[in-house]
Amino acid sequence: MLDIVVTGGTAVLPSGPQPADIGIEGEKIAAIGAPGSLAALGGRVVDATGQIVIPGGIDPHVHCRWPMPVPGQTQPNMTDGPDRVSQAALFGGTTTILDFALVDGDNTVQQAIERRQKEWGGDCYCDYAFHTMVQGNLEHTVPDQLAEAVAAGHPTVKMFTTDITPSRKGRMVPFGSIWEVLKALAKSGGLAAIHAEDNDLVMHMYEKLTREGRTSFHNMAEVHTTLSEDLAFNRVIRLAANIEGSALYMLHTSAATGVRAIATARNEGVPIYGETLHQYLMYSAEDYKRPNGQIYHTYPSLKFAEDHAALWAGTNHGAIQTVATDEICCPLKFKLQGNRIDDTTGGNAGVEPRVSLMYTETVEKRGYDLGQFVNLISSNAAKIMGLYPRKGALAIGSDADIVLLDTRQRHVVKAAEMHEADYSPWEDRDLAAWPSVTVLRGKIVVEKGALTGALSDGKHLPRKVADEIRSRPAV
Ligand SMILES: [Zn+2]
Repeated sequence: MLDIVVTGGTAVLPSGPQPADIGIEGEKIAAIGAPGSLAALGGRVVDATGQIVIPGGIDPHVHCRWPMPVPGQTQPNMTDGPDRVSQAALFGGTTTILDFALVDGDNTVQQAIERRQKEWGGDCYCDYAFHTMVQGNLEHTVPDQLAEAVAAGHPTVKMFTTDITPSRKGRMVPFGSIWEVLKALAKSGGLAAIHAEDNDLVMHMYEKLTREGRTSFHNMAEVHTTLSEDLAFNRVIRLAANIEGSALYMLHTSAATGVRAIATARNEGVPIYGETLHQYLMYSAEDYKRPNGQIYHTYPSLKFAEDHAALWAGTNHGAIQTVATDEICCPLKFKLQGNRIDDTTGGNAGVEPRVSLMYTETVEKRGYDLGQFVNLISSNAAKIMGLYPRKGALAIGSDADIVLLDTRQRHVVKAAEMHEADYSPWEDRDLAAWPSVTVLRGKIVVEKGALTGALSDGKHLPRKVADEIRSRPAV
């Protein structure tokens, strides 16, 4: 007896797209059959005729309820919480988000994770997990704590190779400590997620542009440069390549140099994966000149036309495996509060349009097959982050996270009609699809433009990265 049958759509299965019915029992996918074959097995029928049926999107890089420094103010503002971001995610066809548990103050890694879990419990509409994030000078016991966290189901650790801006001092993890963490992760089954920029070059450019009086954010790409990405990516790659079992995930790759560094390492068999952001694929440093140009920015920085070309090539079975948002959901007035190279707010609102934007840009505009589109917005993240095949697959036994992507009519992005911020960097974009139904673990959570899910629906997901992912470039 099935609870729900999704019938009549084109289902993007791990083997490829095909017309198929999907049967849901409880929280899981229980049956996949020929079109029309499952409706007789009972349950509610969801008509997907003319629509594409995909596994729920996975955004591997979001920040909810995150402190946002305010120029001239000691207390930071907080960005919107998981309650808001997860609602937007579900409306946009994303059913799992990965945020960060920051190890700060005197907290141990375990305490930091527990605190974040407590904060999110009952406050998230979709499923979630946390990358552990360590920063600054690390106590010598931290690598062991991280290894313990890996064993407890938190296998990914974020580290910065830069302070990003002079005002954010304390983010950078000294390279020796990164080395120790990579060794601990290699032994325990973890994966390092790196924000890689060359701190010396970045800080040099802050000094230089400040001296020259060129501190407007319009010059951001002169500070966070393609050369910096080249040096930092290659440095951390060489470090990892010298540690048996070390695997890397390069966060928000923004430049052709980063793409090339990942591609070269993958060709040598290094288990390394590339993430980019949809704004890095679609906006360039030229867009900083537009009205409210900060809304296109996130750190490191927007780059140039040749970087777009390399990033797009990377998404086509190349060095880029995932497209994330680096979500920072906040009102426009907060996003615009800084306008200098050292105080502009990073991140931006984008979790809601991400899946449909990527469908439009990959399948419609660039002729990607549906399988490759689904890999970029869901399956690859599930595999790399240790959630597959529970997440990221329309397969028997997988969680019934299912999205009906309606391609029968076009959809114009309007912040006022979405559930994120009061602005969108994607305002007025003409999209070829929009989700009509979102199912989270067997429960219909968005239907006919209305939220039917609850804040208690989201569950924390323990994770384990497969040996295959950690031993070679497996996706
Ligand atoms: Zn981020």
